[in-house]
Amino acid sequence: MTALIELSNINVQFDGRQVLDNVSLSINKGEIITLVGPNGAGKSTLVKVLLGLQKRYKGKITKAKKIKIGYVPQKLKLNEALPLDVLRFLRLAGRFSQQEIQDALELTGAQHLLNSDMHALSGGETQRVLLARALLQRPDLLVLDEPAQGVDVQGQIDLYDLIEAIRRRFHCAVFMVSHDLHLVMAKTDHVICLQHHICCSGAPATITQHPKYIALFGETRQEKLAFYHHQHDHHHHDLAGQPVGGEGASCSHHSHGHHHHD
Ligand code: ADP
Ligand code: MG
Repeated sequence: MTALIELSNINVQFDGRQVLDNVSLSINKGEIITLVGPNGAGKSTLVKVLLGLQKRYKGKITKAKKIKIGYVPQKLKLNEALPLDVLRFLRLAGRFSQQEIQDALELTGAQHLLNSDMHALSGGETQRVLLARALLQRPDLLVLDEPAQGVDVQGQIDLYDLIEAIRRRFHCAVFMVSHDLHLVMAKTDHVICLQHHICCSGAPATITQHPKYIALFGETRQEKLAFYHHQHDHHHHDLAGQPVGGEGASCSHHSHGHHHHD
């Protein structure tokens, strides 16, 4: 098992408020990890620490040498006053040829948007363009912060399908944030539940049964689980499941590493 990134005991405070409390996790090659948690739980902050965009933190980050990370941010800040088509927007990402840009857009099903105005794109279209931008770098790790926000349910399912297809094709790891696990369940190897500290973590089928997960999100209903079909053709490695902050033992049975076999 090769860790691409390891975070150890990450702490972040904003104005004396503990936003991240002793968070440790590792991302392994090719695995899809979903980070869930309520609004304000610190998910985006954790993503920014991982990307090196949030510099004020305590703790340790170890990254694999020459790791390339593609990032799809939660919010895209564009200057509304400046006209910007998709091609120009993607040219700003680096020295890529038009062919490379077209190929990346084709991978995300957005080739028809090449000459569209960035400001006129729908939520789902924007995400596909951002995903194409992330893919231009041929990342080892794709980081997506609430990629399905502002996208209708079918659009969300399509987007998660696409992310999984990209993982399969490029063998990249995926670390994505969601405030809702239901639609991502089937596409996820490992779930980390964050509420400033890591409440619990594990395989999606396990995590939805966890008392702390249920306390945060409520019971997951059977019909929502219809999307869930986890494939046991890979290994899991759980470094993130250590109960922290002296919290109750109810979490501890998820803290061991585990393996699936066909
Ligand atoms: P999430 O993504 O889980 O919704 P965030 O990581 O964006 O949560 O934010 C966690 C908390 O930290 C929120 O209360 C937010 O207001 C606060 N916060 C985030 N970034 C900053 C910042 N740069 N300065 C001060 N407070 C911040
Ligand atoms: Mg966020």
